[in-house]
Amino acid sequence: MLVMSVRTRFAPSPTGMLHVGAIRTALFAWIIAKQNNGDFILRIEDTDKKREVKGAVEQIKESLKWLGLEWHEGPDVGGENSPYFQSQRLDIYKKYARQLLEAGHAYPDPYTQEQLEEFRGQSKNSNKPFLFRDYRPEFSDKSIEWDETKPLRLKVPEVKPYSWQDEVRGKLSAGPEALDDFILIKADGFPTYNFAHIVDDYEMKITHVIRGEEFISSMPKFLSVYDALGWQPPKFITLPPVLGKNGGKKLSKREGAMSVLEYRDQGYLKEAVFNFLSSLGWNDGTNQEVYSIDEILNAFSIERIQKSPARFEPEKLSWLNGHHIRSKSIEQLFETIKNQGLETGAKFWPEAAGKFDNAYKTQVLKLVQERLKHFDELPQLTKFFFEDQPIDLELIKNNKQLSRFSMDEIKALLKQTIDALEQSDFSIAGLTDSLNNLLQQTSQKPGVLFSLVRIATTWAPFSPPLAETLAVLGKETTIRRLNIAISNWESATRN
Ligand code: GLU
Repeated sequence: MLVMSVRTRFAPSPTGMLHVGAIRTALFAWIIAKQNNGDFILRIEDTDKKREVKGAVEQIKESLKWLGLEWHEGPDVGGENSPYFQSQRLDIYKKYARQLLEAGHAYPDPYTQEQLEEFRGQSKNSNKPFLFRDYRPEFSDKSIEWDETKPLRLKVPEVKPYSWQDEVRGKLSAGPEALDDFILIKADGFPTYNFAHIVDDYEMKITHVIRGEEFISSMPKFLSVYDALGWQPPKFITLPPVLGKNGGKKLSKREGAMSVLEYRDQGYLKEAVFNFLSSLGWNDGTNQEVYSIDEILNAFSIERIQKSPARFEPEKLSWLNGHHIRSKSIEQLFETIKNQGLETGAKFWPEAAGKFDNAYKTQVLKLVQERLKHFDELPQLTKFFFEDQPIDLELIKNNKQLSRFSMDEIKALLKQTIDALEQSDFSIAGLTDSLNNLLQQTSQKPGVLFSLVRIATTWAPFSPPLAETLAVLGKETTIRRLNIAISNWESATRN
């Protein structure tokens, strides 16, 4: 038996910015090809020139590249089915259109707009849905001429119910009312989606068509074209819709659905976005949620693509991203932040970090790796490592324990801290000892003393463990900041 190699495609129309829901389709198609050592083809369906959005093709390509969904054939890489822009394949569609015409499966639409309106009115008056085939013109001559100034329509080969197999939804069917003599080639010479994609899928030897459920209702029409051309349809894999997190509504920007490139620019990892997208409509039946790309490639199966809608939860993406950030070595993470920053022009590190070397930044990164959810949180989480921060009395006021102390008491505690830390070697172990001794000396609880020292050296609502933080800040900065805290804090409370 001839085993055909698996060929899938992603066929976006460049009519707007591709958001994550659309990219999910590409990801599933890429996984299915990759898993089977097959080919993944990128085809741009640009037959509706009026709706085309400038820059959309670039955005599509950049999104796929960033996620690692490299295409084996398509724009920029070429392939034996070039060109991969439908607008450059008009002759191919016309060739098959003429084949249908000659076989008696197509005819030019002779009607004017007014006549069509009249037919619509007639159908409405008799309470029937409008079907063009009810008004199909009679052609006396067997060989019908088509001068390409009129639209060319399919002549439905057989008006009959259709049923077909969907790899996800099982057996589906529709009655003959779903069939009509739809337009194959428009008067402007461009094909319709309904026709062009079938010709391309055939020419490009696509074995699995993976797309959203909005195409299910047109399946009988598609199948009638396959019949008219005598072609074997590919396998159909219908992905479930992706709903906003509140359900019901279609996924929108308000629900947190951004373009993939916006996620990249905010400092999400591609591994996390990949992991997240793969979970929109697929699971392997276990409770596992965090997967590497390789693990997904191993675990994925078409049988486990779900029928029911998937829910888009931005919080889950954030959570996954945190996991993937933590699973990287500190060197890998540092490099990724650097490269993603160069790629996007985003300044993930705070401005002041520019004056510090990579070794210092790596130490800082190590301390926030645990907490970091996406790279654009870095300035907020790390700025105090790079420059002295303005004092923020709210931090003291909001701290139940510290707000009870008088300024003199606080001053005394900070002075004692300075004296103790002057003796420290500022290794983590040394600092831990000094701080513990200080607890005994001052008879304070860690919750009080350590909060005070943390606030006075960082002025941040959260910071990594104290000894580690001070070790990275170093002796000179720590002592300086404690002194600044004593003097500035005093004047700030007086005002
Ligand atoms: N150009 C269609 C779209 O962007 C492609 C649908 C398909 O995959 O067949 O929706």
